[in-house]
Amino acid sequence: MAGFPEVMQESLSLICPHCGESFGLALDVSEGSAEFTVDCEVCCRPMLVCVRINDGEIEGVEVVEE
Ligand SMILES: [Zn+2]
Repeated sequence: MAGFPEVMQESLSLICPHCGESFGLALDVSEGSAEFTVDCEVCCRPMLVCVRINDGEIEGVEVVEE
C-alpha cells in the first residue's frame, strides 16, 4: 500500500458570478462535501463555493456571490 496518496485532489472549474470568467481550483475530495469562500483569480472578488462530493467524486458545484 506504500505510495498511495492520502490526499485526493480533484481540479474544479469555477465560473465567477461577478465577472463571468472561469478559473481552476484544486480541491481535496477525500474530506467529502465542502463549502468555502474563494477569491476570483480574475477580479479578486469573493464567492461562496458549495461542492457536493460522494465517494471521492464531485457530483455538483454551486457558486454564489458573497
Ligand atoms: Zn471574477
